[in-house]
Amino acid sequence: MSHPNLPGPTPAPDTFACAWCGLTAPDGAGRDHCPSCLHARHVLDRVAGGPSACRGRMAPIAIAVAGSGDWRLIHRCLGCDELTASPVRPDDNQLVLMRTAVRPLAEPPFPLEAFGAL
Ligand SMILES: [Zn+2]
Ligand SMILES: [Zn+2]
Repeated sequence: MSHPNLPGPTPAPDTFACAWCGLTAPDGAGRDHCPSCLHARHVLDRVAGGPSACRGRMAPIAIAVAGSGDWRLIHRCLGCDELTASPVRPDDNQLVLMRTAVRPLAEPPFPLEAFGAL
């Protein structure tokens, strides 16, 4: 397998180029979201299977914890509202991950003082 390393705007096939923050990340294979801003592009239709024509911007909206304890990053497509879950990678931005995980606690829809009376 050859890896031509030609200069130019086209990234090597084994890198991931983020369309939203401009980062080019290594190990593009299997990477479906940007390790820096955690945004993704809607290229796979996970409901119907196969490629999606949407190509909208997928924003990280939540963290889900799988039965194994692994974190899943929940994305929602800003174009068509499809929700997806993808595994968190070791090089994902941990500050953005934590910010996403604690967002419901940081912005509760009811006063937390109520718990003091329980
Ligand atoms: Zn990015
Ligand atoms: Zn979409």
